[in-house]
Amino acid sequence: MKSALLTCVALLAASPALFAAAEVTKGYGPSDAGFKLDPVLPPAIDDIASKATFSIIDGQKDGASPDLAVLNDGKIPQSEDQPSANFFFANGSDGGRIGVDLGSVTSLRSIATYSWHNKERGPQLYKLYAADGRAKNFNAAPKKGTDPATCGWVPLAEVDTRPKTGDGAGQHAAEISNKNRRPLGSYRYLLFDISKTAEDAFANTFFSEIDVVDAGQSEVQRIKPLEKIVKNYKSKDGKFRYIIDSTKAPALTEWSEKELLPVVEEWYPKLVALLPSNGYRAPDQVTFEYRDDMGGTPAYAAGNKISLSAPWFPGELKREAKGCVIHEMGHVVQNYWRAAQTNRNPKNTPGWITEGICDYIRWFLYEPQSQGAHVRDVNQAKYDASYRVTANFLDWVVDKKDKALLQKLNEAAREGKYEEKLWKDWTGSTLQELGEDWKKAVKDGKR
Ligand SMILES: [Zn+2]
Repeated sequence: MKSALLTCVALLAASPALFAAAEVTKGYGPSDAGFKLDPVLPPAIDDIASKATFSIIDGQKDGASPDLAVLNDGKIPQSEDQPSANFFFANGSDGGRIGVDLGSVTSLRSIATYSWHNKERGPQLYKLYAADGRAKNFNAAPKKGTDPATCGWVPLAEVDTRPKTGDGAGQHAAEISNKNRRPLGSYRYLLFDISKTAEDAFANTFFSEIDVVDAGQSEVQRIKPLEKIVKNYKSKDGKFRYIIDSTKAPALTEWSEKELLPVVEEWYPKLVALLPSNGYRAPDQVTFEYRDDMGGTPAYAAGNKISLSAPWFPGELKREAKGCVIHEMGHVVQNYWRAAQTNRNPKNTPGWITEGICDYIRWFLYEPQSQGAHVRDVNQAKYDASYRVTANFLDWVVDKKDKALLQKLNEAAREGKYEEKLWKDWTGSTLQELGEDWKKAVKDGKR
């Protein structure tokens, strides 16, 4: 008898549940879609999931994943690989089960899930069950291996947003609802039976938000998709193109065009002319992007892109903002990253030279009137102290020893040929001797 009963339960569990109750609408977009994933609307803020209780029924959250609260906080991640803003099951595991308790039986209009990642953690693969909790054999927390349909749950939908080809990088949305917007039914509990989306260990979806909309709720407030503000400018002579992205700093859009752009248009070509070398062509397009994820760094350059700190700039518009951009444009023109590609045995250019050149251009050529690189304390007068101090040293060498020093130094650095003995070749004095002579000038108050 015992074995007959077991067989019966196994058969029940193996019979496939029918997921015919609801429709699944999918939305997909690239990483910059701003969760505007037509035809699915952006995530809701005041839906009833925001007050529901979420729990892990089976499986383990990843060590880098925050708690389930990120799923109903009405907030979306800010970038395409942001573990701290998504819930995901442990690397190497095959998903798990998430339960949602709405607190009372409610007539539901729709359920929606949102996810975002730059690889196969983007797409979603899960089965959704719902229950009112009234079935005699109702199990509120069935583990994987138990078919929820056998213990009081209604199979609502099967969701699979994986594309036919590719890893599905980008933003995904799935909305479960009925045709003609008829309610889905009256339920208190939801069960998401989630699977990984691919074979490898890093394929558990980055779930960003889960929404549940009450059929009785007339209007749902939704996240406003970020409006892109990207302006494209061509120089008058047609040689250069400048792109300014102020999406993350809308209040700086006008200043960027009226105040910053003229400086860029005047100085980028000047920098190109100041730092030539044989066979070299500086980038003819430069992108400026305000960002809000740079910590304490005001600005930096990588390739032909300059990142500007959105929180830092507003307080510096009349102070350091423009000079800081001059410095970064210097790095774009320098392009010393290139030495590794063009020279088989590139010599390393010390950072104090790279930074000193950009600060020299900024403080002595762009804004000499500000005297920002004046060295007050002779104890700080070390030629390799970088930035402003090195800038002061370079200005002294240019002034007293070699008018073409900047071009020579730049060419050597760009080609990966910088070495200390070059100073003697160029000026007749070693770097140490130059440093000492300059220090005397600083001491005498002549710098
Ligand atoms: Zn720099």
